[in-house]
Amino acid sequence: MSLAPYAALETSSRGRSHPEAAPVYRGEYQRDRDRIVHCSAFRRLEYKTQVFVNHEGDMFRTRLTHSIEVAQIGRAIARMLHLHEDLIEAISLAHDLGHTPFGHAGQDVLNECMKEYGGFEHNLQSLRIVDNLEERYADFPGLNLTYETREGILKHCSLKNARELGDVGERFIQQQQSGLEAQAANVADAIAYNNHDIDDGLRAGLLSLDMMCEVDLFRQQYDAVKKKYPDLDGRRQVHEIIRRMINTQAVDLIDASNRRIESVKPETIDDVRAHSEALIGFSEEMDEQNRLLKRFLRENLYRHYRVHRMTKKAKRILVALFDAYFEDPRIMPHHTQLTVAKGEEHAGMAGRARCIADYVAGMTDRYAILEYERIYNPTTLT
Ligand code: MG
Repeated sequence: MSLAPYAALETSSRGRSHPEAAPVYRGEYQRDRDRIVHCSAFRRLEYKTQVFVNHEGDMFRTRLTHSIEVAQIGRAIARMLHLHEDLIEAISLAHDLGHTPFGHAGQDVLNECMKEYGGFEHNLQSLRIVDNLEERYADFPGLNLTYETREGILKHCSLKNARELGDVGERFIQQQQSGLEAQAANVADAIAYNNHDIDDGLRAGLLSLDMMCEVDLFRQQYDAVKKKYPDLDGRRQVHEIIRRMINTQAVDLIDASNRRIESVKPETIDDVRAHSEALIGFSEEMDEQNRLLKRFLRENLYRHYRVHRMTKKAKRILVALFDAYFEDPRIMPHHTQLTVAKGEEHAGMAGRARCIADYVAGMTDRYAILEYERIYNPTTLT
């Protein structure tokens, strides 16, 4: 694999917080990727909601399959743009580690519960997991990932939080960009969820082909498939349309990004970081089409009453769990009580709240539901 000079070359890496000897048979970003795949938070993604709650059906995306799709799209983009595939894969697989149970609804609830104690943001939580919370190595807390992977995980961040984050917070203060691998993983995330949410929404019966044809991006591929395969219908028709949508978006992204890179001519990753805007992105037309698709999904899928009902239930469960633990941490498992006690010793009630948020955020959908039952249903065995 030949890398562009402005890619994230290992020789120009800003390294790890705790210095370590270079790996023997692997690259640095390969090691990051491997550490992510072996961590507990990664395994729990299997039982966390993307849009549809995990137990609604086995066919829907979960955070785990979503992350794998992001990594696939990201690697394809990286290869065409001569960027570092291992780095983009590591960022993609880690980007959603901090998500709470029940998708975005869960994050909003925890943020509300934590509003007097610094708030809660899934992006920051992903970083907190890889920097502090994972307990896997004798020599350091967390996974001790390279700066470049951590930079990619922290997609956005408020100025207030940036000031407390040290090295990875700097770019938000300096108004700099991330490396191209982080930029590409970010767009790969959007390509993945826009397309798989259409697929899942159609499968769940919340969207229909007729409705989807209101969206240009979908309509174009629908027409092309209809013309070439007039008799095709059902799942194969849907999948043929969606695979073409993903391909069209990826090709547009690669072409438009190449054009931008050619006109700006960065020589190193530092030039990329210092540039006034991101170099990886769609063409203007595709950007607009994507905006329309996103708006359509927001109005018709994410706000569908059946999704909203689940969101409401999720909120009730998480608020109830947070409140019960906060009021009396002695109902938490023993090892978690110890963590909460340490947090409290260090930062008082804010420390207690933060450790409880970590615990609740780390739960899978089904574990949160079970805990709710155990705590609030008097006939459930504890
Ligand atoms: Mg994502």
